[in-house]
Amino acid sequence: MVRKTAVVTGVAGFIGSHLAERLLEEGYHVEGIDNFDPHYSEGLKRKNVEEIRGTGHEDKFKLVNGSINSTEDLQDLSKRPDKVFHLAAKPGTRSSIGRLPEYRRTNVQGTSNVLEYFEPVKKLVYMSSSSIYGEKNLSELPVKEEEDTRNPQNPYAKTKLEAERMVKEKTSEGFETVALRPFTVFGPRQRPDEMFTSFISDIVDGNSINVYGDGSQSRDFTPVDDVVSGALKASERGSGVYNLGRGRRSTVREIIEIMDERLPHDIKVDYGERRDGDVSHTHADIERAKTELGFEPSDEIEDTVVKTIKWVKDMKERNLL
Ligand code: NAD
Repeated sequence: MVRKTAVVTGVAGFIGSHLAERLLEEGYHVEGIDNFDPHYSEGLKRKNVEEIRGTGHEDKFKLVNGSINSTEDLQDLSKRPDKVFHLAAKPGTRSSIGRLPEYRRTNVQGTSNVLEYFEPVKKLVYMSSSSIYGEKNLSELPVKEEEDTRNPQNPYAKTKLEAERMVKEKTSEGFETVALRPFTVFGPRQRPDEMFTSFISDIVDGNSINVYGDGSQSRDFTPVDDVVSGALKASERGSGVYNLGRGRRSTVREIIEIMDERLPHDIKVDYGERRDGDVSHTHADIERAKTELGFEPSDEIEDTVVKTIKWVKDMKERNLL
């Protein structure tokens, strides 16, 4: 059998670890790089790696403990893999405010290093972000992948768009690339600063959950398994930029109701001021991904919420959350 190798940058993170598992299940040799960035606990990321190794394909998995900011660290990865999935990034819209140089170093310069090192790999999938669309009126939604819909409003979004442009510029006949713009991804291993993990964690601990705004803000919440499926499809076909979402919005209040149905605790909610960096609504137009990639979002939120609850409880028992 022909050996297939995929590189995943940011492999110890939320989406990267799920993607690595799926690639291993599909028969790939996976080489991952991660520097265990302190944005959130190293313990959680080490646990994600343990889960990857626990899939029973340990012999096909290699972890490079290193940074995409170091051209030397990158050299520990195969130079000519079949596919590269570039996910390593400094995440978080709110936490990026006032930290543009730091975000640029990883999200832009790091991406440049990745492009330079792997060029001309057969296919590079770059994980961009829906945050590049910024604030939109409801009348402008669902948003399409057009040039004039972009409006990045914080350093995170700006650096993700800058990197996306660089990826596009590098595209050539021998170097195929795709950029994906996932919308609020959730599921087990979601970052602790993100809504599902932080709400469930607070509820389980008996604390009030903090909602920034009145809860009517809405998001196109996308299960992580769908994003992984989209990334795999994009590694096989398609070029250009694609939204990845469910193509539906849910309000924060609706999500709290789902959690209320699935958790035996009384949920106490503190509604506060909206925070800088938050947008009111997001909603993806996913027609392009459906038509060109064959992307099929699942029609569920509940199952992924249940899995996330289970994961949060497990991490709490291990004192990792
Ligand atoms: P995450 O923080 O869990 O994963 C990112 C990983 O990259 C982390 O493990 C981190 O340690 C690693 N990393 C950071 N800097 C690095 C460096 N210099 N060298 C090597 N590794 C480094 O975040 P995530 O939510 O899994 O996001 C993964 C990607 O998806 C990011 O590019 C993010 O911008 C994008 N994205 C995420 C969402 C979402 O809702 N989670 C939405 C849109 C786009």
